[in-house]
Amino acid sequence: MPRFSLLLVALLVLPLGSTAQPTPDSTHQLLLADARLVDPETQTVERGALRIEGERIAAVLEEAPANFDGHILDLDGKWVLPGLVDAHVHSWGNAGPTFQEQQMLQTTGTAKMMLYSGVSAFLDLASPEDYILNLRNRQRSRGFLGADIYAAGGPLTHPNGHGTQYPGSSARTATSPREARQRMDSLAARQPDVAKLIYNPNNDRYPSMDCATMEAGIEAAQTHGLTTVVHVETWAAAHQVVTAGADAITHAPPAPLPDSTLAAMRQQGTAWIPTLAVHTELSNLIQRPRLLKKDLLRAVADSVLLAAYRDTSGLPDQIRSWIDRQDEYQTTRLDAVRKAANAGVPILAGTDAGNPGLFQGYSLHRELVLLTQAGLSNWDALAAATTAAGRFLDAPFGLQRGDRANLLVLDASPLEDVRHTQNIHQVIYRGQIVNRSDFLNEAATSVPTVPTH
Ligand SMILES: [Zn+2]
Repeated sequence: MPRFSLLLVALLVLPLGSTAQPTPDSTHQLLLADARLVDPETQTVERGALRIEGERIAAVLEEAPANFDGHILDLDGKWVLPGLVDAHVHSWGNAGPTFQEQQMLQTTGTAKMMLYSGVSAFLDLASPEDYILNLRNRQRSRGFLGADIYAAGGPLTHPNGHGTQYPGSSARTATSPREARQRMDSLAARQPDVAKLIYNPNNDRYPSMDCATMEAGIEAAQTHGLTTVVHVETWAAAHQVVTAGADAITHAPPAPLPDSTLAAMRQQGTAWIPTLAVHTELSNLIQRPRLLKKDLLRAVADSVLLAAYRDTSGLPDQIRSWIDRQDEYQTTRLDAVRKAANAGVPILAGTDAGNPGLFQGYSLHRELVLLTQAGLSNWDALAAATTAAGRFLDAPFGLQRGDRANLLVLDASPLEDVRHTQNIHQVIYRGQIVNRSDFLNEAATSVPTVPTH
């Protein structure tokens, strides 16, 4: 299971950095003309135009209007889809295979790296709470820092449980239903976008909340109107979490998905963020070095990190055995995702970026590939990274009138090959054309690489 090591205490005192572009004014007009509009919600491709006013899609048109006096972007031969969403990250930066090497971006740099990569929103499922929620609030009140930030704040777990081990952790801990309710009251007062809980009974390293405490935590969160996402490591635990009414489970247990648990997920309407990337990419990068040559990865990744993935002669046994476990259970996990998707369980694309094998922004494109390897159609994989995330976060992510004008413009069809999401022509963020190279430079220079423990 993910064991990211955060050096986040330092982040709290770092400046937020400059912004590459101003907040768009509400009268700003942009027309995307002659594009192929790829809508994962309706699973249709239409040739047409999008008229954007301020931050929103104002109209979906069959053709460009004759009298438009804003900026016109001719997208003949291009493919336009909603900006991608990563539904599970820890936005501090990127790690090498052992955490020895780190590319410290802070959330501000990550948000820029994400936009460069065509990811226009992300859900941070545990970062130092004051830092991430203050940054999110600042983004919402004053505009633009990079991709849209959605955040859980700190997770609810057991004393010394998973989630408490990171420096600067904002985990809340509970040993009884009463304490769980109190902790959720204090979390809800911070107005996070979701509540994250960690429920991993039988983990041999970290103690877990008991079932009654987990159930009380979910119920209390929902009483406050909070959507709940629960970290699970076994299907038995997942079953209890689903029965307790959690809105989503995250991670993919290393075992076949039981029919009874699948039935419970369908009955409860539980969403699943399987994070195939965190369960497979460390192994993939190390055993298939050609993956390290992808253009988008090379653009976003610190060269020191890439070198660490290339020369793995000194990898400790603990990491080797993690890689072996990734290989051992890869097929099992892909099968479970296919089975759930075929049964109609909402699948959300999330990576758990911040952990070894993963890169903020880039790895969401890999998650899309992994979802299609599991057996999702390209359409369903694209929906998992766009409109399904919008539904889950109650956010206007799509290609319809009124949706937020966060868009990804591609040089080739993602329906022909989902890997084409990496062939980025342009990124539109809140109605503005993103100067991608500026964002990349700002992300890379926001904080120097910090080699640490
Ligand atoms: Zn995580």
